[in-house]
Amino acid sequence: MLGIKNVYICNTEYPTKPISTLLMATQSKQKIALVAGGAGFVGSHLCRRLLSDGRQVVCIDNLHTGSLDNIRELMDDSRFSFIEHDIVNPLPRLGHIDEIYNLACPASPRHYQAKPLQTFFTCVSDTYHLLELARANDCPLLQASTSEVYGCATQSPQSEDYWGYVNPVGKRSCYDEGKRGAETLCMDHHHTFGTRVKIVRIFNTYGPRMSVDDGRVVSHFIVSALRGKPLTIYGDGRQTRSFMYVADLIDAICLMMKTNDNVTGPVNIGNPDERSIDELAGITLRLTGSASSTMHHPLPADDPPRRCPYITLAQTLLGWQPHVSLHDGLLQTIDYFRRVTEKE
Ligand code: NAD
Ligand code: UDP
Repeated sequence: MLGIKNVYICNTEYPTKPISTLLMATQSKQKIALVAGGAGFVGSHLCRRLLSDGRQVVCIDNLHTGSLDNIRELMDDSRFSFIEHDIVNPLPRLGHIDEIYNLACPASPRHYQAKPLQTFFTCVSDTYHLLELARANDCPLLQASTSEVYGCATQSPQSEDYWGYVNPVGKRSCYDEGKRGAETLCMDHHHTFGTRVKIVRIFNTYGPRMSVDDGRVVSHFIVSALRGKPLTIYGDGRQTRSFMYVADLIDAICLMMKTNDNVTGPVNIGNPDERSIDELAGITLRLTGSASSTMHHPLPADDPPRRCPYITLAQTLLGWQPHVSLHDGLLQTIDYFRRVTEKE
């Protein structure tokens, strides 16, 4: 049991009763939310938010890129349970579930490219297993899709009706095509069985509890700056991304889950504040007060040159728009990584 309450490791210690039965024994009136990938960066924020909104939370994760440290303090809450399980495989017996959030999938190019087959099957098999669970419980499933479905977009900003420009056989394909396939599965399940699905296309999101070795640009720049190492800029640094602070994303996810069943998405969730990678390096050095240099490396294959969301649909449907500026979000994130790296 790893010395922690409410932790189950599948196939070895899984409880004989369905997990939600155990939760319901203590808190019978609260809705039960399943967060797949709940020990990851975004998932761990979502678990906290759902608990504070009065849900019971079952977090299921194989700890591939997530960490028990992200959810350790939640283990003392009797409304929270953690199941270690790889959702590529069929799900354990879960009992009644009211809401499903599918966030399980490595999101950093470094990680998803290291295990492309696992990434692709996670996108597809995991979504299929969770769709079957949603159908069995007649409950909604929120699918964390991605701006990567737009690939090397030939138009910018990207709106939901743009079909994308994706290399199906490149280094990024396991993730891009996996996530596109997962969207297809969601919509086909919806049309075939009436399964309640809600697809959000998430644009680059950052914040506390990204892992130190994550390799995504915000965390990599901050950690390098704090360690006094050079910031690695891939290519000429003129490629752009639009960075969203994690709290804004969590608000959007919760609003999307509350929409009527006819709202399936996909809906873009992102911050249209588009910045070049060069610019991000400069801001990171200024906010950390670091004397690190910058160093150019070759641009990885199929790296999208521009990424910026149209968010009119999210504004109209959800009454949502991001509130946290890049400056404020980066300060929060730097604070977090300063604490983590000081312990090293
Ligand atoms: P993350 O890597 O920190 O979290 C993913 C979590 O899923 C980890 O805890 C990992 O261990 C778990 N996981 C992976 N494969 C699994 C499997 N087969 N079975 C069970 N658990 C598994 O990534 P994140 O940034 O928190 O992203 C969460 C979700 O949001 C992902 O689906 C990602 O594609 C999507 N997303 C994130 C961003 C972003 O910028 N953060 C952008 C677009 C989409
Ligand atoms: N990038 C970079 N240096 C790094 C990490 C990433 O220049 O140390 C670039 C990367 O090539 C891409 C952008 O920053 O153009 C965003 O990369 P990230 O891995 O964060 O996410 P992506 O949007 O590519 O999935």
